Amino acid sequence: METKKKDNVKNKKKKHIDKKYKKQSKNILEIILILILSISIILVALIFFINRGDKEKEEAEEIEVSSNGLKENNVIEVVIPKKERKEINDWKLVLVNRDNPLPEDFTIELANIDRTKQFDKRAIGELKEMMQAMKNSGINNIWIQSAYRSIEYQKTLYDNKINEYLNYGVTREVAESLTLEYINKPGESEHNLGLAIDFNNVDNDFKNTKAFNWLSSNAKDYGFVMRYPEEKAGITGIEYEPWHWRYVGKEHAYKMEELDMCLEEYIEYLETN
Ligand SMILES: [Zn+2]
Repeated sequence: METKKKDNVKNKKKKHIDKKYKKQSKNILEIILILILSISIILVALIFFINRGDKEKEEAEEIEVSSNGLKENNVIEVVIPKKERKEINDWKLVLVNRDNPLPEDFTIELANIDRTKQFDKRAIGELKEMMQAMKNSGINNIWIQSAYRSIEYQKTLYDNKINEYLNYGVTREVAESLTLEYINKPGESEHNLGLAIDFNNVDNDFKNTKAFNWLSSNAKDYGFVMRYPEEKAGITGIEYEPWHWRYVGKEHAYKMEELDMCLEEYIEYLETN
């Protein structure tokens, strides 16, 4: 009996402990659940904010890209007229000047004017006809002083002229600018192109000759134009050269006279009209 009672007490105690234990573990479970839930909420919130940050960044980048695009569009707007320019692919109109030098390896097929001088093979027929027509008109005091010059020869001329000025005691800068008034840098002269000729003594007195008068009225019939008129020096960048004539072909020579344009202006006109 005594033992039974004892057992009962023991059991009761055990039940109580179990109950207590169960209650405790229930509490722990609740805490864990709450913790998990809290962590989940924090995690979700974190992910949300991180995503939002990225999106804002992306949007900002997009805005930047589109503003760049806008900038590019602005540039394109400026470029469009250039793109719409017609490309002039005519060997007679090749523009050679300080801004448009010939490539160093430029070559053309040449033909002989005489034993020492050469000209572009495609235009030499008209050059010879023009010289003959002048003679037929009674102009005898006319000769070709200079025609095609290789780029190497142009370099010799250019360097010699600079040295000449340097010998006067001027600085190289001054010597170069004085030289450039009449001699172009190698590759920047029309003589390198084989389509230009210099007449007689290559000086301004040529404008007072019968030959110059004749050329002024008739050279266009043979496709030649005076390349550096006095009033166009600001455009050509070359001082008045009444002795220097350039072959452009009859059609262009007529049109240039009609429009009163030098080659730079005429090419611009053709490209944009
Ligand atoms: Zn010349």
